[in-house]
Order: sequence, then structure tokens, then C-alpha cells
Amino acid sequence: MRTPLVIGNWKMHGTIVEARALAGAIRDGLKRPRGVQVVVCPPFTALALVSEVLSGSPIQLGAQTCHHEPAGAHTGEVSIPMLAEIGCRWTLVGHSERRKEIGESDELINLKLRALLTQGFTPVLCVGETAEERRQGLTFTTVEGQLRAGLAGLGGDQIAKTVLAYEPIWAIGTGVNASPAQAAEVQGYLRGLLSELASKEIAQTVRILYGGSVKAENAEVLLAEPEVDGALVGGASLNAQSFIGIVRKAARIGTATKE
Ligand code: PEP
Repeated sequence: MRTPLVIGNWKMHGTIVEARALAGAIRDGLKRPRGVQVVVCPPFTALALVSEVLSGSPIQLGAQTCHHEPAGAHTGEVSIPMLAEIGCRWTLVGHSERRKEIGESDELINLKLRALLTQGFTPVLCVGETAEERRQGLTFTTVEGQLRAGLAGLGGDQIAKTVLAYEPIWAIGTGVNASPAQAAEVQGYLRGLLSELASKEIAQTVRILYGGSVKAENAEVLLAEPEVDGALVGGASLNAQSFIGIVRKAARIGTATKE
């Protein structure tokens, strides 16, 4: 069984004061989450503080991106050892907003992923198609290209330590989530590719999250899909009660339906 995983991506939201309050409320509302793993990804400026707030709590800390080199002349970047130093062990890689706004290429994403794995982090590789690609019947082609390039050169043991997130771009921040069937179809396809790239056994252990307008109200039906192993949550992770609601649904479904 794959333990459900819920990740909150705070994006570029939260002053130190707001981050302290949000992290504290999530920590207090999820003292002993059972049957689910929880990660929050605050902006860089709040990571150290949130690390302190979450200290001793089962909620883990993630970054939204990183640089692939350990140090150097890379103005504005943050390295993996810097993240490790403040208790961070997870990082999102290849979020569509970074692919689009910063121009992150599949090659760069692959470099980051390899560096993260070498340094004991869990990378969360994000893939997903645009609305236009879906209209043109290119959904599988797009996500397959992103997956193959992102995982290029990795051995089965490294793929086993990676988490995938299927995030259709048309569903991110729009309030229009993929239907459970749409998510399951693409995620099943991704798992098939993992069987080919690693092995059938490893593919069965890798968690594939769904992301795109997940809220407490739609989490249950999405997470009930056997192919959906959790959620990557943007907007709804900025409200402690909404995020806790999603985590509780994931925990319930993980321990009941999918066992
Ligand atoms: C995201 O950006 O990863 C995301 C899924 O955002 P939202 O939940 O707001 O759609």
C-alpha cells in the first residue's frame, strides 16, 4: 500500500507573521495524522521559521525549488545543502509555474532531480498538459515527454525515491479540477511508464499525486481513485482549515478504501 501524501504549496504567499500563524494552525490541527504523510512548502524566506514552528511535529518541510549545484556564483538561488541545514527534506521540481515563468527546461529539471536524490531529498516531479494540448489530444505525449526527460538517467532505486505530481495546467488555480476519471487515466498512464523505466514492482510503490484546484470539498472523490495517492495543494493550503480538511480525507481514504 502507498501511504497517502498531501503537500501544501504556499507559492509566493505569506509574510513571516502569516507563515508563523498558518504553520502553527496546521501543526495544532494535525497533531498525530494517522495513515497520511504531510508536507508544507513555504516560500524561501519563511522556511527557517516554519522549520522551527514544526519542530517535533510529524509535518515535514519542503521547498518549492532549488539550485542543482551545492554552492557558487548563482545570484538569487538557494542550494540543497542550505535547505538541508534548516530541516528541509522535500522539494518540488518542475512546477508548471516555474516551467512557464522562469523557463525551466526538462534538462534543468533533471539536473535538480538528480542532485536532490544524491543529497537524500525526496523530489516531487510535476508534470501536466495545457488546455490546448488536451484539446489537441496531446495530453499523454506531453506528460510522457516531461516524465522521460525528468527521470532521464536515473536507476530504478532512484525512481523509487521520487514522487510524481500530475498537475494539468488548466486546473491549477482555476477552480476547475480534473475529474477523478481524467486524473486516474493520466496517472495510470504515468505508472505504466514507470514500469517500463524502472520495474513493475517499483512502479507500484511510487506515489503519484494529483494537483489542480483540490479543495476539502472535492478531495474525497479525487483521492478515492486508486491511482491518486494524494494531493499537491496550492490555494487551499493557505487556509489551515481547508488544508487540514484535505489531509483528513486523505487519511480516511488511505486507511479505509485502498488497504
Ligand atoms: C499548484 O500550484 O501546485 C496547485 C495545485 O495549485 P491550486 O491547488 O491552487 O490549483
